[in-house]
Amino acid sequence: MYDKNNIFATILRGEAECKKVYEDKNVLAFYDLHPSAPIHVLVVPKGEYKSFDDFASNSQNVADFFKAVQKIATKLELIKSGYRIVTNHGDDAGQIVPHFHVHILGGKKLDKLA
Ligand code: AMP
Repeated sequence: MYDKNNIFATILRGEAECKKVYEDKNVLAFYDLHPSAPIHVLVVPKGEYKSFDDFASNSQNVADFFKAVQKIATKLELIKSGYRIVTNHGDDAGQIVPHFHVHILGGKKLDKLA
């Protein structure tokens, strides 16, 4: 069951603030409150999806969402230098906010994943 009171839902409803980077009819992107890199942006679909699994199973806009991610990375001028996209699904990944989102990380040489 989707939790309508999660922080990203409140941001999407305009009840909580965010530092907006991009918005279209399906997507909102804003800076992460606790950045893990010099540029750390969260890309959030406007529909009610708990995680990547829910989004990939139920959204009709998966391709459009990832095209928006590419557009935002371009707007952030990360294409040439490089960037990482990450999503956490569920407990083992450490998902904190139960609304699907993709992290865009860049602005420095990022640590290796392993
Ligand atoms: P995760 O669910 O593990 O992908 O992590 C959620 C991310 O959301 C973390 O990087 C938090 O720093 C970030 N976050 C939580 N609350 C806010 C907020 N109000 N505005 C921006 N970022 C947030």
